[in-house]
Parts: sequence; C-alpha cells; structure tokens
Amino acid sequence: MIELEEAQRILLGEVPVGPTVTVKLRDAAKFRLAEAIRCDVDYPPFARSVMDGYAVKACDVGQVPAKLRVAGQLPAGLDSPLVLRAGEAIQINTGAPIPPGADAVVRVEVTKLSDDGLHVEILESVPAGKFITERATYARAGDVVLEAGAMLSPMNMAVAATAGAAEVCVYRKPTAAYLVTGDELVDVDARPSGAQIRNSNEYLLASLLTAAGIEAKSLGVAGDDPAELRRKVEAGCEQDVLITTGGISMGEFDFVPRVLEALGAEMLVHKIAIKPGRPTIVARMPGGTWVFALPGNPLSALVGYELMVRPALSRMQGGDGKAAREMQAICDGELSAVRDRQTFIPAVARVNDDGEWAVRLLSWFGSGDAVGAANANALIHRPAHAVAVTRGDKVSVMLLPHSMDV
Ligand code: AMP
Ligand code: MG
Repeated sequence: MIELEEAQRILLGEVPVGPTVTVKLRDAAKFRLAEAIRCDVDYPPFARSVMDGYAVKACDVGQVPAKLRVAGQLPAGLDSPLVLRAGEAIQINTGAPIPPGADAVVRVEVTKLSDDGLHVEILESVPAGKFITERATYARAGDVVLEAGAMLSPMNMAVAATAGAAEVCVYRKPTAAYLVTGDELVDVDARPSGAQIRNSNEYLLASLLTAAGIEAKSLGVAGDDPAELRRKVEAGCEQDVLITTGGISMGEFDFVPRVLEALGAEMLVHKIAIKPGRPTIVARMPGGTWVFALPGNPLSALVGYELMVRPALSRMQGGDGKAAREMQAICDGELSAVRDRQTFIPAVARVNDDGEWAVRLLSWFGSGDAVGAANANALIHRPAHAVAVTRGDKVSVMLLPHSMDV
C-alpha cells in the first residue's frame, strides 16, 4: 500500500501528454490547445463606432447645440465611400467604420434630426476619440491571443474565431471503455431478486466520462469469471483508457488483478492508503492502454476516479494532471477522528449567506451507500490521523467538478 501523493506522483510520471491533432474550430470546444493561437489580422481590423449616432469632427461640436449637415449614412458592413468635411455629420451605426475626416461619434440620444433629414442638432460635446474603437485596439496581427495549454472554453472559442483560427492544434481526447464486474449485478430495469443488487457504477462511469467530454464505450457487465473478464479486458485494451469496477479486493472471486497480470499488465499502483478506495489499481498494458481498476462500491469508484482517473485524463490532454482543487469550508456537523488512511466523505458544499464555503454532512452509511450520497457535490478530505471535527470547524473540501449544480 502506498500513500496517495506517491500514487499520483507515479501516475503523472508515467502518463504521456498528447498526442495532438488538428481539428476544425467548431469541433474543438473543451479541447486544450497544443499550440498558441495568434491573431491573423489587426483587431478590430478598422476603426469602428461603438454607438449608433453621428460621426463628427469633435471641434465642430465644441459649442452646443451645434447644427451640422447630414452628409450620408454608414451602416455596419459598408466601407465608407464618404469623407467627412467641416460642418458635416454622417449617420453611423454600431460596428460601422469611422469615415475619414471624423474623429468622434455622438450618440443618437443627444441629437435631434431635422424633419427633412438634412441637418442634425448635436446637443452634447464629445472629445476627439469618443465612441471610437481604433484599429488593433484588441490585438495586432501576429499577437498571441491564446497560449498553448489554454482550454477552449466558450469564451476562448470566441477568441479563436476572432483570431481566424479555422483549424486548431489540440491535444486529442483519449478514447475510453468501461467495464463493471460482479455476478450480483442487475441493470436498472430489473428488480433485484435474491442476492442481486443494481448496477449503479455503469451509470456513474458513463456520466463521469461524458461530462469529461470523452466518448467512452460500455463493455457491459462481466461476471466473476476469469475467462469472461479476460475477453472483456482485452476488448477494453483497444482504447487508450479502460476503467473497471469491482473484483479487486481480497475475495476469492476478485479476478481482476490476476486477469490484468495474465495479460502482461505493469502494475504501477496497487493499493493506496485512502478510504474508501484502498484496492485501486493503475496498470499499463503491453499495448499502451491505461487500466484503472476501481473498487466495486460506488463511492469507492467515485473517489478512485477523482483521485487517479481525472488526473490521468487531464495529463493526456495537456492539463496539469492535478486532482480537483481543495478549499476550506465550515463543517455543519461532527466527524470522528481519522485512522491511518486519508479519508473522503461525500458532502454537499455551498456558499453560505456570509459568502463562505460550508459543507453539509449527509446521512451516509459508507462506500456502498449511493442513496445516502444523493446530491453530493463534494468530498470532504481528511488527512490521516486527523482529530475529530466538531460543528463549525473548518475542513478541507474537494469540489466534484461534474457534480456542481451551476
Ligand atoms: P467488489 O470490489 O467486487 O468486491 O465489490 C465491492 C462491493 O461493491 C460489493 O458489495 C459489490 O456488490 C458492489 N458493487 C460491485 N459492482 C457494483 C456496481 N456496478 N454497482 C453497484 N455496486 C457494485
Ligand atoms: Mg465483485
């Protein structure tokens, strides 16, 4: 058994970054950039109006009211055919190019157009430059607008589009498969009879991977049978990542470690000093597939995913490979002292009325209790040998990024 920090260090030392691919920008949302994006033109490409109103010479409207001749109209998208001369105004719309000769824009709200439309009365003075965005205010051609490593968030998609990045070089998303194991499992549409229980992990893993933007293939359920397990693990080895649950404890029917070893797995991590999640395995298969064999209980599987799978997926996609960040939050109840393993407890985190993070404890019966963990969006993280917590104490909390209700 090794400490969590050691397991994560081994993992990040071994998991490779990349490979990279070039994709169309519209297919690149949520990918991480492998190369910086530079703006291909000055931005904005021309001096443009910020307001609907009149392009003027500021010196013509130093004294107000000022009566100017309306020399024409400039909607957005039209290259100005006009040159503004002294004593003139040109009707201009937001986003339209500033005509040569103009050096300010007066908002339409502080003007009065004559009934014949030939003159406009300007009621407010403006300094030169007012309501004009000069060419290249935002970026010059060749400027880096997004660094390598930036994630293509919705805002960054807009930045990339602005910069003319029709194709972008990003880290490829790993392909993944997941497999749950156990003779006792029945699917959601069956009523468990006798010694059966419902297969909740398949839904847990499917939604974790979907939320991570990874297309993952379900290999269904493998019974506790080495031959069947081997076949399914082999099928999973066609992907970059295979996640399994169950079958890794000390029981006679826990065949997963033996099957992995029989297939030539290099067991990089086997047993971590965490609770729940102790039996977690990280293995590299001869073909390069990364196998994360997580324990069977749903909360153990979730903890193993957050602590090991998420960092690995992040690293493969050019991220920093860190587990979700932790913060301090006020605990609303009591927690007993911790023994020798770092401990993770599902909880509901929220910002309280004073603007501080607080966590609500759940009525939870341990790692097999998915029901008690309903609505959990965080894990309280208690260090090994931590003393008991009383209501109002601060505890360390890891938000579950895919579970935040925002
Ligand atoms: P195992 O690691 O296979 O010994 O499983 C540990 C516990 O998790 C047992 O109580 C299993 O019944 C339960 N378990 C295993 N797989 C699943 C699953 N897919 N969904 C819900 N519980 C499971
Ligand atoms: Mg089992």
